Amino acid sequence: MELEKILFKHFGYQNFKTGQKEVILSILQGCHTIAMLPTGTGKSLCYQLPGYCLEGQILIISPLLSLMQDQVEQLMKFGEKRVVAINSFLSNEEKWNVLKNLTRYKYIFISPEMLSAPAIMNKLQTLQISLFVVDEAHCISQWGFDFRPDYLKLGEYREKLGNPLTLALTATATKKVREDIVQSLNLHKFNRIESTIDRPNIAFYVEEVSDYRNKQDRLMEYVKLLQKPGIIYFSSKKAAEQMAALLIEKGISKTMAYHAGLEQEQRILIQQQFIHDQLDVICATSAFGMGVNKENVRFVIHFHMPMQMESYLQEIGRAGRDGKPSIAILMYSPGDEQLPLQLAEGELPSRQQIDWLFNHFPRAEDTNLVDVSTYLPLRDTSGFSETQWRITEDFISNHHRYSSLEYLKQEIIDFADERLTVKRNNILKLKKWIEAKSCRRELILHHFDEKTENIAKPIDCCDICGIQLDHFKALEPVTFKPEDEWSWRDYLAKILLNSELRQ
Ligand SMILES: [Zn+2]
Repeated sequence: MELEKILFKHFGYQNFKTGQKEVILSILQGCHTIAMLPTGTGKSLCYQLPGYCLEGQILIISPLLSLMQDQVEQLMKFGEKRVVAINSFLSNEEKWNVLKNLTRYKYIFISPEMLSAPAIMNKLQTLQISLFVVDEAHCISQWGFDFRPDYLKLGEYREKLGNPLTLALTATATKKVREDIVQSLNLHKFNRIESTIDRPNIAFYVEEVSDYRNKQDRLMEYVKLLQKPGIIYFSSKKAAEQMAALLIEKGISKTMAYHAGLEQEQRILIQQQFIHDQLDVICATSAFGMGVNKENVRFVIHFHMPMQMESYLQEIGRAGRDGKPSIAILMYSPGDEQLPLQLAEGELPSRQQIDWLFNHFPRAEDTNLVDVSTYLPLRDTSGFSETQWRITEDFISNHHRYSSLEYLKQEIIDFADERLTVKRNNILKLKKWIEAKSCRRELILHHFDEKTENIAKPIDCCDICGIQLDHFKALEPVTFKPEDEWSWRDYLAKILLNSELRQ
């Protein structure tokens, strides 16, 4: 059957988006494939569709539970029932039930840490895995902005599964990161499919303001002026909440704050209201966006500076998925880089924290080696943040077998130093981009090692090339019709029902 027919039959689309067909053809020809497709182009389809052409199972490794859940829902929405996610959401009993009946599923989503469990690996080894998918593959690289130590072992797991046909997907990877992906997965021969990350319908605008107060005033003006809906990103929950309250006070009533501190139910509600055009503005932290497939977002404003170019690109990529003109505004006041620098430091254990931990480390009686089972209770008294503890624990569990205590301690210190340097450099690179005096679009493309000699710049390219803010102005205020009111309670009930059915 023609690919377009399969696309229409199972997914209801008439045409492929950029890059999708090339990736799918490459897989169906039996070639390992590393694909870099821009945000909003439907990367998931690149493994969803081959599932209908290949025998056996599609195994998808996904780094985030929320993302995994979203991908499962997405397939179910298309009517596919043979989908399962093996992750820490499952109770032991549910897990064994799923494992017992694994051959019933076509699409198996799994977190990398689950792959390390021998019982699960044994079971997976009995399957015929026709495609091994690494989603968000940039997490493999230490140079990737979202490095996950668990991802480092994927090459080893892939080998245990008999080196199946492999697809590595990412939206944001520099050349160095892409090289790391290929090396880690041990792909000797592969197809590389890279479509440009450029989104010509998104204009870039950087606004330098003198101070916080001034920034706040300018933000108000932008939100009043610009065509909505839009997303405003903040680096702190508090700032997101304060600004949402201020916007409501100033008459932008359909505004909500969204961050990881809200209850799950509340988060789903806000997300769904935004998707269904019942909200105009979301004041969010980076917790918002993954899995929000909304086509008509007209602006993304960054009130604070992001941690690196990769996440900036991912966040502004939520604008203009319908292809219509949209704008990305980054607001900067002198010294703004201090906040991400502090955040970066807070993500890694400090020298003092590591010292403390090792001073309190229980030693195994007759050896200087670490008995990992004994230090876990220290977690509660250590004062480590969740991220700091996760990184430390990952490191210890990956390295303790080979190291003496003193050596291990030095290794963690070096590791944390190195990561912090990478993070600091990323922030400074973004600051350079903010201060740049040449085309912002070209600089972003250069960052991802793309050539720019032949790109056709849009009329509204960036503040350096010249831009007409009028083109992004609201034509008329959006009015909210009561008959459009959409019941989120029904939606929640449906989700709960679905998750019950899955169990
Ligand atoms: Zn430009």
